[in-house]
Amino acid sequence: MRVYNFAPGPSTLPLPVLERAAAEMTDVNGTGQSVMEMSHRSGAFKPIIEKAEALLRELMGIPANYRVLFVQGGGSLQFSMVPLNLGGIEPGAPKKKATYVETGIWSKKAAEEASKYLDAVTRASSKDRAYSYIPVAPAPAPDDAYYHITLNNTIVGTKWPSLPETGAIPLVADISSCILSEPLDISRFGLVYAGAQKNLGPAGTTVVIVREDLIGRAPSWTPALLRYDIYAAEGSMYNTPPCYGIYIIGLVLEWLKALGGPVAMAKLNHEKADLFYAYLDNSSFFRSPVEKSSRSLMNIPFVSTITDSGHRGELETRFVKEAEAQGLVNLAGHRLVGGMRASFYNAMPIEGVKALIAFMEKFEKSEK
Ligand SMILES: *Cc1c(COP(=O)(O)O)cnc(C)c1O
Repeated sequence: MRVYNFAPGPSTLPLPVLERAAAEMTDVNGTGQSVMEMSHRSGAFKPIIEKAEALLRELMGIPANYRVLFVQGGGSLQFSMVPLNLGGIEPGAPKKKATYVETGIWSKKAAEEASKYLDAVTRASSKDRAYSYIPVAPAPAPDDAYYHITLNNTIVGTKWPSLPETGAIPLVADISSCILSEPLDISRFGLVYAGAQKNLGPAGTTVVIVREDLIGRAPSWTPALLRYDIYAAEGSMYNTPPCYGIYIIGLVLEWLKALGGPVAMAKLNHEKADLFYAYLDNSSFFRSPVEKSSRSLMNIPFVSTITDSGHRGELETRFVKEAEAQGLVNLAGHRLVGGMRASFYNAMPIEGVKALIAFMEKFEKSEK
């Protein structure tokens, strides 16, 4: 039996995609091979990677002057690749600055990693209230190399309500947990990156979308596999790419296109999130710790008003266990923040959200 999987990542994938991958496991496109077995330089794999990129370009409306790169190392490796490639590092020259906005644990990690290579200046933070809101966008300094944000904060459940104005300074965004959840104007960014395992496919592939003029700025000592210019020049095949992951991303994108793409997804994702937030806001037992103006569509943390604490007590543990027995799995909050969290990525049907609310209503009653 399939469960409703509310995991923040790796997370639920569309059932039709998994079934198709199963059907094609030993013979894809009449090649007599599994995608896992074929040479990445073969005529058999070429259409698979080209389809994935073409669909991504079409669905995200990626302008022609942006390159799509398939990288390994997860979202976390981009915390290093972004400053290495965009940081204006020059031998003997003083370190450049870049703006970082601290909206949670991932953005903090990104800034910490970047400070190995440049002066990563945290110009705004929402740490004062446990990252429960998105701060007013700070102005960049005129000589910033770039301006980094985490568009959707997977752990604390916030999302930027609008993009910061950065003028000529390239805006860089970690979109790991919100890629294709709703339309996004790529031309506003210098670069975006997303680890696939939240909303796009399996772990092991990261998508980087970068404006062409920002490619080729890494210092000469940069390891080959950390240079965007090498990925761009080699069609993401300087070495063996994560072939199977790229194939599954292609299937997910086909599924998404058939459903109407990000516009249709945004409508469905708003319905799901609205339903759940309305339940939380009307409940006397559960509540959202996140400010209304900053709430995420994808990741919704919640706490019990009984314990109302940041740690996972007896009630939270029991909630997660009883939900699991009902086929509603992976509802524990992040180990660093506690409480509970439900993630409603594209592949989560609205029936899953309704089943979770029905369970919570019953749980609430039984506690009174
Ligand atoms: C999950 C996540 C990451 C880390 O991804 P890895 O692929 O595990 O390195 C980074 N940023 C955000 C927003 C995430 O949700």
